[in-house]
Amino acid sequence: MARQPHVIVIPHAAQGHVAPLMKLSLQIAAHGVKVTFVNTEFIHEKVMASLPAKVEEEKRLISLVSIPDGLEPEDDRQDFVKLTESILRVMPGNLRNLIENIKRSDVDEQIVCVIADMAAGWALEVANEMGIKRVAVLLSGPASMALALHVPQLIDAGIIDTDGTLIKDESIILSEDIPAWRSSDFSWSCSDPVMQKVLFVYVSTALKTFKFADQLLCNTFYELDSSVMKLIPKAIPIGPFLASNHIEAFAGNFCPEDSTCLSWLDKQPAGSVVYVALGSTTILNPQQVDELALGLELTGIPFLWVISSNLTNGSTAKFPEGFIDRVADLGKIVEWAPQEKVLAHPSVACFVSHCGWNSTLEGLTMGKPFLCWPYFADQFHNRSYICDVWKIGLAVDKDENGIITRNEMSTKIKTLISSDGIKANALQLKEVARKSVNEGGSSFKNFTSFIELIWH
Ligand code: UDP
Repeated sequence: MARQPHVIVIPHAAQGHVAPLMKLSLQIAAHGVKVTFVNTEFIHEKVMASLPAKVEEEKRLISLVSIPDGLEPEDDRQDFVKLTESILRVMPGNLRNLIENIKRSDVDEQIVCVIADMAAGWALEVANEMGIKRVAVLLSGPASMALALHVPQLIDAGIIDTDGTLIKDESIILSEDIPAWRSSDFSWSCSDPVMQKVLFVYVSTALKTFKFADQLLCNTFYELDSSVMKLIPKAIPIGPFLASNHIEAFAGNFCPEDSTCLSWLDKQPAGSVVYVALGSTTILNPQQVDELALGLELTGIPFLWVISSNLTNGSTAKFPEGFIDRVADLGKIVEWAPQEKVLAHPSVACFVSHCGWNSTLEGLTMGKPFLCWPYFADQFHNRSYICDVWKIGLAVDKDENGIITRNEMSTKIKTLISSDGIKANALQLKEVARKSVNEGGSSFKNFTSFIELIWH
């Protein structure tokens, strides 16, 4: 028998990156491959603190290790520019030392590849320098990657400038099956021009990472968007990455899951609950939290609402006067939910989502209609897919003051829940997603070939 291969997995230091890569790692480990999962020390502590006690034994399936990110414990890691600068300065050297130590501790160790998040491309440069095979993983909407690959041509053709701003007021079309990008739909679009510049630098970093990668594993399935897959060379769609087939509790959460929402859902009628979760990075101002709360109340429909500390920018959520008492029998609020299980629950009727790529895939794999509330990055373009291409959701609109009002929320939720067409499309897409990861499906076959490559 061949010697056990060993892979090193490196996520970007963010919730929406650690969790899906943990799912992928468990899937790889289930095929007998040794996996070392490298977080920053800061994230590692959060992940370990959020693990339920019962996971102790299973922990051995993959090895969780950490390296410093170069910042002090008290430094503000929400400062995107500072964190990025620090990561790029110290983490390549720290990763190199880690790999050298692994090799020194066992000369027979077979590190076959480094599997790095596209957003942690620096790790592929380290692997390249050390002569190790390089696999990148795309966790955002693949269409945004396809657009990034076209950026040099778009600049040369005078369609966008070197800061990523559209020069003429027209949309960008890559293919007739892919939604066009308006200026507000780019993954780097931002009302603050300084921030837009920073985000646009990520595009050139992605292009560099892409060159280093031997393969690009994508959290999607071929049937979801074959046109975009054809525009990304080296892309191997192996998604959706799902936790349900693996060790459920080992989710890579930064905050413990509140499972009481599952028993609460058990008590609700089938197809009756609105699930509201805007991911790990969305921030709402207090007025918007009020309108959302009052909109949910106005529907009179049961709701499960995730309010992480991030949503309210680190402060405790404040609700309209009397709201909590009035909705005591109608709603449940949690800080962090076991999202996949919630979405799979028969009581959940629809998903009010920020359209982060993980949430998008999770919602569609569970067959739930979406009410789209995008916040930033690829989420605006993901919304176009949900509403215009797959036709499995509706979108909320802001009023003239940039607020999504209680009436808008309430009207859209009611319209969504009563739309049989959207429901039918969502159930149809769920079947295609399931088929792709089941034995013989497109993602199943791609993943099997990838594992064979690791073993040989
Ligand atoms: N998530 C979760 N519990 C929650 C809210 C979110 O487990 O209460 C997970 C969700 O299942 C998804 C991830 O957090 O896998 C969020 O990733 P996504 O790409 O949707 O958004 P981001 O947080 O990166 O903006």
